[in-house]
Amino acid sequence: MSLLPTMYIEIPPFRYIASHLHFHWGSLSGHKGSEHCIGGKRFSAEMHIVHYNSKYAEVGIAAEVADGLAVLGVLIEVGSYNPAYDNIFSQLPQIKYKGQRFQIPQFNVRHLLPERLDEYYRYEGSLTTPPCNPSVLWSVFRNPVFISEEQLHLLETALYFTEQNSSSPVQMIDNYRSLQQEGDRLVTVSFREGTVLAVTLACVLGSVVIIAVTCWLCRRKKREGHQKIVYAAAVPMEENTTKV
Ligand SMILES: [Zn+2]
Repeated sequence: MSLLPTMYIEIPPFRYIASHLHFHWGSLSGHKGSEHCIGGKRFSAEMHIVHYNSKYAEVGIAAEVADGLAVLGVLIEVGSYNPAYDNIFSQLPQIKYKGQRFQIPQFNVRHLLPERLDEYYRYEGSLTTPPCNPSVLWSVFRNPVFISEEQLHLLETALYFTEQNSSSPVQMIDNYRSLQQEGDRLVTVSFREGTVLAVTLACVLGSVVIIAVTCWLCRRKKREGHQKIVYAAAVPMEENTTKV
């Protein structure tokens, strides 16, 4: 889907102009279609919003050079119905076959993104479709967005690689690149990893609980000690013996 060139993102020192957005998805056979995995988890689908460096004349030229593109990756998972995504998905029947075009009514693209834009993974990588040039500064948002099962189903079944009158139509499914080796690539994160934070919090909480329990036991022991002394002095030995 083409985007207006008035849209842009800034990743210093460059400004990147919006070019288009597209999706990667799996199929009804159960394949999940995200191109990025986080902690080994693959998501149902993924959206890419492609931008090009404003110092180049157009996206085709920028795609050839190392600092040419910046792509925002949005992971998509099945959850509740998402009206923002229906701005696109409801129009898929209009572009079912190769070469068809349709103008989508205006809507706010921001609504396609996760709520928190400040939490993302970033690395220097490549296009995920041939010729797979190493020209992309990737920013993949930490949190997925959710669409309904029905919406995912529509995405996975609506389109064809082939033209309308093709004698052998080929459905557009599993259009994601297989996972690549991480190699020596550096992936930075803009947030504190949840597991590290959780472990730290657990350690702190654990220490507080241990100290509190220890203090309580000490005080109880001390109090019990006092009580024993008081009872011993208050009950005469003979009386105690007769009672037993
Ligand atoms: Zn893509």
